Amino acid sequence: MATLQFSDARECVLREVQARRVLPSTEQVRLDSCAGRVLAANVLADRDYPPLSRSVRDGFAVSATGFSGKARVIGEVRAGDRYHGAVGPGEAVEIMTGAPVPDGADAIIMVEHVVRDGDSIGTDRPVVSGDFINPQGCESARGSVVLSVGTRLDYASIAMLATVGQTEVSVYRKPRVAILSTGDEIVEINETPLEHQIRNSNSASLSVQVARAGGIPEVLPVARDEYGSTRDLIARGLQADLLLLSGGVSAGKYDIVEKVLEEFQAEFFFDRVLIQPGQPLVFGHAQGKFFFGLPGNPASTMITFELFARAAVELLSGSLESPLPLLHARLTREFRHKPGIMRFLPAHLSADGEDLTPTGWQGSGDVGAMARANAFLVAEDNRESWETGEWMRVLSK
Ligand code: AMP
Ligand code: MG
Repeated sequence: MATLQFSDARECVLREVQARRVLPSTEQVRLDSCAGRVLAANVLADRDYPPLSRSVRDGFAVSATGFSGKARVIGEVRAGDRYHGAVGPGEAVEIMTGAPVPDGADAIIMVEHVVRDGDSIGTDRPVVSGDFINPQGCESARGSVVLSVGTRLDYASIAMLATVGQTEVSVYRKPRVAILSTGDEIVEINETPLEHQIRNSNSASLSVQVARAGGIPEVLPVARDEYGSTRDLIARGLQADLLLLSGGVSAGKYDIVEKVLEEFQAEFFFDRVLIQPGQPLVFGHAQGKFFFGLPGNPASTMITFELFARAAVELLSGSLESPLPLLHARLTREFRHKPGIMRFLPAHLSADGEDLTPTGWQGSGDVGAMARANAFLVAEDNRESWETGEWMRVLSK
């Protein structure tokens, strides 16, 4: 089966999900509860924005044509008001930021650039038509699309909805994402594990990751490492819009997830990606649904979700895009790794976002190191070392 490089595997996920996704049905939600939802219809401007030409500075509105450097102040206009009358040659109207530009005026002289003497102002700066004016409709014309279908609603797009007076909005229903942890050693989190057992942390982390990506997590009971249990639970998981499995995809004798999926006539796009954590990683399609077989080690599960499954959840939510949240920061110490695979390792990013410190870990079972990290450094597969002070890529947590 297929082993892919990181970027090829990501492209494969984006391509396949975009090509074959079935968009959810839609519902109307109120503006105050639509954060994070995905628009199911374009939003149009109800009028021109700005509706009138508007000053973007405090200052004086004048006609730039033939402006001599001096003008007589004939009135004022502030935001929330209009100037009734026109500005003629040699005249100025005092204007505040956000106020409509009076008829006859086509430039604003900033208040900081004038000397005022009673009723007259003077400036030694050149005045050019259009200075400090946002013309009517320059942000968006009435009837034009201000938010496109597929936009994930964040604080700025919600401000846009508020601006155009949309109190209700049509969004896609959230996709249901089944979460199926596997393993004979896994017990529920309210149980006291025996020494050879561990609590199911992967269903907990995946639930939060799914919800953050815009899906509804549906946690299934843990599948035991035998065919019957795994088959029944996969069948249930494929009822959801997406199935996330954790564990059982390595090369061990009891890693049976892929074999069981074959019984569902699954199509596999890849089953290994050259990344750490998370080399064994299965992505496929069965019975009209996508599934991921994420490796069971907690760090691997978390990272492979962020790198691959998150994009699938976002696209299945109706989003147009799903960019990776990558930054750059400077290393506070040198970093070396063995090239050939791409690594995503726990790190600390300073408050100003400049400095990146690898925080170390005991391997991909180290939940504590994952919990303490506030970012992940990204070590490319084609490079062996980075010196102190060099820029390195960072994946946001
Ligand atoms: P596997 O991918 O099934 O070989 O699992 C690798 C290791 O990940 C196991 O030995 C467990 O220590 C750990 N693991 C697997 N599933 C979970 C889970 N649901 N929660 C926490 N740790 C897990
Ligand atoms: Mg296992």
